[in-house]
Amino acid sequence: MSFPSLGLSAPLLRAIAERGYTEPTAVQTAVIPEVLAGRDVWAKASTGSGKTAAFVLPILEALARRELTVPRRVHALILVPTRELAKQTSDAIASFRGYLPKRPKAVVILGGVSINPQMMELRGGADIVVATPGRLLDLVAKNALSLAHVAQLVLDEADRLLDHGFADELGRIVALLPAPRQTLLFSATFTAAVTQVGGELLRAPARIDVTAAPADLPTIAQRAIEVDTPRRTQLLRHLLETHAWPRVLVFVATTHATEHVTAKLQAAGINAIALHGKLSQGARTRALEMFRASGVRVMVATDLASRGLDITGLPAVVNYDLPRSPTDYVHRIGRTGRAGEHGVAVSFIPADMRAHFALIEKTHAHYLVRERLAGFEPVEEPAPMAARPAGTGADPTGGVKGARKSKKDKLREAAARSGPKT
Ligand code: AMP
Repeated sequence: MSFPSLGLSAPLLRAIAERGYTEPTAVQTAVIPEVLAGRDVWAKASTGSGKTAAFVLPILEALARRELTVPRRVHALILVPTRELAKQTSDAIASFRGYLPKRPKAVVILGGVSINPQMMELRGGADIVVATPGRLLDLVAKNALSLAHVAQLVLDEADRLLDHGFADELGRIVALLPAPRQTLLFSATFTAAVTQVGGELLRAPARIDVTAAPADLPTIAQRAIEVDTPRRTQLLRHLLETHAWPRVLVFVATTHATEHVTAKLQAAGINAIALHGKLSQGARTRALEMFRASGVRVMVATDLASRGLDITGLPAVVNYDLPRSPTDYVHRIGRTGRAGEHGVAVSFIPADMRAHFALIEKTHAHYLVRERLAGFEPVEEPAPMAARPAGTGADPTGGVKGARKSKKDKLREAAARSGPKT
């Protein structure tokens, strides 16, 4: 499949070629013709699949085919859950619209920063608005923009939009939109809430499923290293010393941990920076820019950074703390190996997390050999059940709560017991 065969016109094809895309990804091949044909779309696609261009390109095509109004009216509304995703989407718009004869204007609307510059930008209208829901409603309330002419609505990462408690805002926004419109819903997971919202908003949608499972990410080598909890920072330093990774994204569980691990790395002379949701928008943008520009080698982040973030030239991701859910695991490791590059995703497995990691593996039916590195062999054993905090859902034998050990579990345990494999 080629981009010209998808129905995009010459100015967009030229921008696509300049961006270095030679072939559409699976989600682009499936979604673009449907959007151009005017259908609603229900797409199960995770980040890294090329979904941003899958909706940005046909929206630009639709705008190229119609007269732009003066003042400009919002034709396309793209709702995103996070600032990072908003920025990534507006960057994609900027990179593809360059050759269009009438360049559409896109405005990004975000909470957490001053509202006045956004009001100024909206003077004269906008053709495309990329927004997080709360601030969008504030601006509508101030009459800074009208959504009465929106013809295309995109819900990007709908599962996260709803996770972030945006369900109410979403309902209020949809009530402001004209009924005859095209709606595109992208989500990595179809939770009950996403399914319900999709059922309410979409009209006879094209259903597209191109979710990547770990096994479908062949450019990412996955490793699981057993290590004791207190020795993880030393192991991380060891990996940084023994691999020439110019940039590494390290995931931890809490804001506090981002700062703690960053401080330890800095004390060891490693240029590291923390990224978490409690930083101001300015600090987050600066941290990302420094990381992208290679001024900083290690970024220690919470799951805030696990989805949507697009950092090319990121050869390694480390799960210092394991993610809570199997879905987050895919999102995190998908930060590396972008756009066909090779990447490695390393997970640290302390004794108490063995069962949790086994659950992640089981969900994806993708199993890794446990490694033990010389000098970092674990001595901790999983705590007995009675000593574990309630609701950890893990059993110390390495199985999954509520499930009897499968043959695969037993084989994996035997493999892990048989000693170091590097
Ligand atoms: P996304 O899933 O939208 O976050 O995109 C993931 C990454 O793939 C980004 O770095 C895009 O620039 C890149 N990408 C998207 N489409 C293509 C394509 N057709 N060819 C090569 N890279 C692409």
